[in-house]
Amino acid sequence: MKFTEFGFDQRLMDGIDASGYENATPVQEQVIPLIMEGKDVIASAQTGTGKTAAFLLPLINKILTDPHEDHTNNALVIVPTRELAIQIAQHMEGLSYFTSVSSIAVYGGGDGNAFVQEKKALSQGADVVICTPGKMMAHIKMGYVKMGGLKYLILDEADRMLDMGFYDDIMFIIDSLPKKRQNLLFSATMPGKIRELARKILHHPEEINISISKPPEKIVQEAYIVYDTQKIPLVKHLLHKKNFKSVLVFCSSKIAVKNLTRDLKRAKFLADEIHSDLDQNKREEVLIKFKSGRLPILVATDILSRGIDIDNIDLVINYDVPHDGEDYVHRIGRTARAAAEGSAYTFVTVKEQRKFLAIEKLLGKPVPKAEVPAELGETPRYNTASSSRPTGKKNFSKPRRFQNKAKR
Ligand code: AMP
Repeated sequence: MKFTEFGFDQRLMDGIDASGYENATPVQEQVIPLIMEGKDVIASAQTGTGKTAAFLLPLINKILTDPHEDHTNNALVIVPTRELAIQIAQHMEGLSYFTSVSSIAVYGGGDGNAFVQEKKALSQGADVVICTPGKMMAHIKMGYVKMGGLKYLILDEADRMLDMGFYDDIMFIIDSLPKKRQNLLFSATMPGKIRELARKILHHPEEINISISKPPEKIVQEAYIVYDTQKIPLVKHLLHKKNFKSVLVFCSSKIAVKNLTRDLKRAKFLADEIHSDLDQNKREEVLIKFKSGRLPILVATDILSRGIDIDNIDLVINYDVPHDGEDYVHRIGRTARAAAEGSAYTFVTVKEQRKFLAIEKLLGKPVPKAEVPAELGETPRYNTASSSRPTGKKNFSKPRRFQNKAKR
């Protein structure tokens, strides 16, 4: 589903575009319309599914388009850790970049300056406050936090917050909020204590369950950390190394599919392509050849990643990092079906590292990094610290923690 279908304000669309998002992830597809309708939502969704944007996008849109009071905090996002608060604030900055929606992250461990800035924002009223429970409670107790017109409450990673013993702090914060508000609860798991919390906080919630299956253990997963220019030579190297019978290569764009297929054909590999520029007959013809084993190498856009049952693929190459964890699992699930064994290699460029790290988080463990052959030249480092930088075409370097709403 394209983001244009949600009917978002153009200023928000510009932020989505600048963040490099094209299609909504499954959790976004399900959750965004419900939030736009004003429903309370309880969603089980893990990190890596795009859950942050699933609540930030409709939230920003509502703040942009629905009437709301000034001089009050409008939305409160409560999260378990400082790291998550910072990460969500960065998402927020990226997505709201072209809007006047203000936001602030409020978390423990900051210095005196941070405290003064937080106090100023909370007493004047920020549009979106992203906070950890302890620090927020401390501010509320000091009496200056303006909550009178608050309309939205979001609890993110609620199971982790309860595990960390934040129940009382959360309830204290909630007691200071207006009773009439829209509530959203996200949690990776749904144990009884989360359902109990939901019963206390949410009103007739819609329930969304995005559970992601883990890929089968027997798939050998490896990642190659590369520069863009090394991708085509690396595909050729891998195809030469072992005599794979059936190889599926996924690219994220039609152009990449066409370029790679052309290069493989020139190098005398038996390869063909499948993407939406081909008519249905041609697509079926290519697919039949591939399924029957007459075509050993198929290069595809992700029109093939879901639901198509092709047996006996022994190698899947993610030429580009799939756009979310679910796509990754679906793509590599094309290999090692039934009793067969399979390998899944993913190429990760510098600008895709953050996305890949999110996928690794979802899988619950890092994917082993394979060595790129020396003749392909030096490779970038896998810099897990890059995970704290926003992605996207734009350089979001402008510090914009809190802007006075009077400027709106
Ligand atoms: P989250 O599950 O919210 O932690 O998001 C995981 C990663 O997916 C983050 O790096 C997001 O920037 C990215 N992301 C979220 N939504 C989309 C989308 N629709 N298209 C591409 N990337 C996305």
